[in-house]
Amino acid sequence: MPELYVDGSWVSARSGATRTIICPADGTVVGEVDEAGPEDTAEAIGAAHRAFHDGPWPTTPARERGDLLLRTADLLERDADVVAEAESMDTGKRLVESRYDVADVVSVFRHYGRVAAEDAGRMVDTGNPDVVSRVVHEPLGVCGLIAPWNYPLLQASWKVAPCLAAGNTFVLKPSELTPHTSIHLMRLLGEAGLPAGAGNLVLGAGPAAGAPLSEDPRVDLVSFTGGLVTGRAVMASAAATVKKVALELGGKNPNIVFADADLDVALDYALTAVFLHSGQVCSAGARLLVEENIHDSFVDGLVERAQAIRLGGPRDEKAETGPLISAAHRDKVAAHVARGIEEGAVLRCGGKAPDDPALESGFFYLPTILDAVTSTMSVAQDESFGPVLTVETFTDEDQAVATANDSIYGLAGAVWTQDAGRAQRVAARLRMGTVWINDYHPYVPQAEWGGYKQSGVGRELGHAGLEEYRETKHIWHNIDPSVQQWFGGSDR
Ligand code: NAD
Repeated sequence: MPELYVDGSWVSARSGATRTIICPADGTVVGEVDEAGPEDTAEAIGAAHRAFHDGPWPTTPARERGDLLLRTADLLERDADVVAEAESMDTGKRLVESRYDVADVVSVFRHYGRVAAEDAGRMVDTGNPDVVSRVVHEPLGVCGLIAPWNYPLLQASWKVAPCLAAGNTFVLKPSELTPHTSIHLMRLLGEAGLPAGAGNLVLGAGPAAGAPLSEDPRVDLVSFTGGLVTGRAVMASAAATVKKVALELGGKNPNIVFADADLDVALDYALTAVFLHSGQVCSAGARLLVEENIHDSFVDGLVERAQAIRLGGPRDEKAETGPLISAAHRDKVAAHVARGIEEGAVLRCGGKAPDDPALESGFFYLPTILDAVTSTMSVAQDESFGPVLTVETFTDEDQAVATANDSIYGLAGAVWTQDAGRAQRVAARLRMGTVWINDYHPYVPQAEWGGYKQSGVGRELGHAGLEEYRETKHIWHNIDPSVQQWFGGSDR
């Protein structure tokens, strides 16, 4: 069956091109999918444009749009095992993690299903009893949704669910490396009753299949999650048609540990913060800032635990984390580590692929800790998007905050202390979209997610995540108009 979904039909790429998808855990072939070119994306945009302007989706009552999202959530729950398996095959991540991801996707659809009909707008008191003034929300139009490979379906759901809740139509382009769960999602949206053309799917490389979404004048908003360099290109290209742009980009997220923290708990979380999904998490706590007087014991403990982390593929029940997404990505991570060592960082563990012959055919990389890092080094500033922790020290609260904020990024960060006043002071001073206190990584669909500085533009999730997909219109109704005589006939 063809894998591009355009105007309610499954179609092949016009060029006939396909791409082989491989499992990063062992290099086996997962499948062969259609590879769209610009002409396929243009056709999908055309379908979304017709579906927006001719309906019926944008004028479907918001409550019914919400019901469709709730039905989709139920279908995702029904197919959870199949979807989790597909996600693990494409990404190499452990099945247990993919099951969590699918549960999160279900929550995102349920959340936007529930809130779709809330907040229809507001009345405005103009002071004039003969005027009815209303501010209403309307869908934006055609949305180009571009997703990355680390949490393929989850990142897509953060866009698709609010986009549909608000009454828009869309073209989704997942990462070319991880298409299968997006294909499944489109099947389920069709099964849930989404009208033809309201949701379209193109698969393929960014420059060919994705770029038209930021270039085409028929697209009203492009929502992109991915790397900083690609995000800049998307923003620049969207400027030509003054599209609305939402960007969720990278991060180099500080995890700040004060000496007065519960250190056993902080140490345990510091590992999860950075090594979850082998560091391929935009909010990974990849930059440990530890108070100087506890540095030695804390880092010794981390090194010991990091060295014991078991790597393995999706079906290895003993594995604690999986591979990197590709050989090319592993090379990038290795180069990042090598640069750090050249700059003076001290390699405490990892820094290479594992020796275990059972892992040889996958793109694994050992959990790596670089000590004696300073904030001027590239390893402290650049996102590695791999299992690489850098360690810096601080001596007081001001220095901790200044070091944490010394970054072009501002996605997320955490502070560990048992002093509630200090925790709140530091949280208030961090220039980041999410701050965890004595925790790391949790999020809920009800709360906004996004970046300060070069970590992004706009917000996903929460109320703001729905607002991204709405236009706001002011309707002024004069119910008793009379002649004004501003011009002519008066003695003014
Ligand atoms: P990437 O920038 O390489 O690709 C992201 C998507 O953009 C892919 O679908 C790709 O095909 C597409 N693309 C590439 N070039 C394009 C172009 N010229 N026009 C349009 N689309 C194009 O990113 P990636 O390697 O897939 O993902 C990793 C990055 O994503 C990391 O930097 C990570 O921090 C970031 N990320 C951020 C968040 C967040 O919430 N802020 C979440 C997940 C990932």
